[in-house]
Amino acid sequence: MSVTENLLSIRSTLPPEVELVAISKYHPAEMIAEAYAAGQRCFGENHILEMAAKAEILPKDIKWHFTGHVQTNKIKYMAPFVDTVQSVDSMRVLQQLDKHAARYDRVINCLLQLHVAQEESKFGLTPDECFSLLSTEPWKELKHIRITGLMAMASNTEDEEQIRKEFRTVYSLFLKIKETFFADDPHFRILSEGMTQDYPIAVSEGANMVRIGSAIFGERSY
Ligand SMILES: *Cc1c(COP(=O)(O)O)cnc(C)c1O
Repeated sequence: MSVTENLLSIRSTLPPEVELVAISKYHPAEMIAEAYAAGQRCFGENHILEMAAKAEILPKDIKWHFTGHVQTNKIKYMAPFVDTVQSVDSMRVLQQLDKHAARYDRVINCLLQLHVAQEESKFGLTPDECFSLLSTEPWKELKHIRITGLMAMASNTEDEEQIRKEFRTVYSLFLKIKETFFADDPHFRILSEGMTQDYPIAVSEGANMVRIGSAIFGERSY
């Protein structure tokens, strides 16, 4: 199957309100161009320099989402163009994104990354850390970032019930965070969950943005 066929078939299974981010990391710009020609406009990458190099040569109306670990010393390379940083997990990252976006007089959309999976990970906020960041840190003063929702990954397991349980946990946190901190902010509305292996479960548990790589572009060769 071609990139175009993969995209159209995935798109046809998604409800219209669910946004598809095509995760193009490690795949060449030509494949992104093919997906673009099939109508896809939103792409996700995990390395800042790789994303910047692709953005340079691809159409300017692409919305670039960054989904990898944010190295603050590389923020300057994505600040001019990145649409959304999905992997924000500290106040320091928010402040640095704000500082660099200010230089371009832009606003960068940010998703707070929650860690709910069973695997140990140094990335992502625990639910407690997320609440504590939102209630104690002066993020509201940052005018060049906008917190637009949450991102999460489920455990890498065959156990569908476990995955479903984690997505349910995230959905209830999403509602609670929305109600507690963003009740009158319509921008806070994105729940980014679900990858190639588990996106149907994520969508059935409330995700309105999915991040799909291999099912569109094939296996990645690292
Ligand atoms: C690689 C990656 C994806 C896409 O994974 P696939 O299994 O290829 O669909 C989604 N989200 C994040 C954060 C990733 O790093």
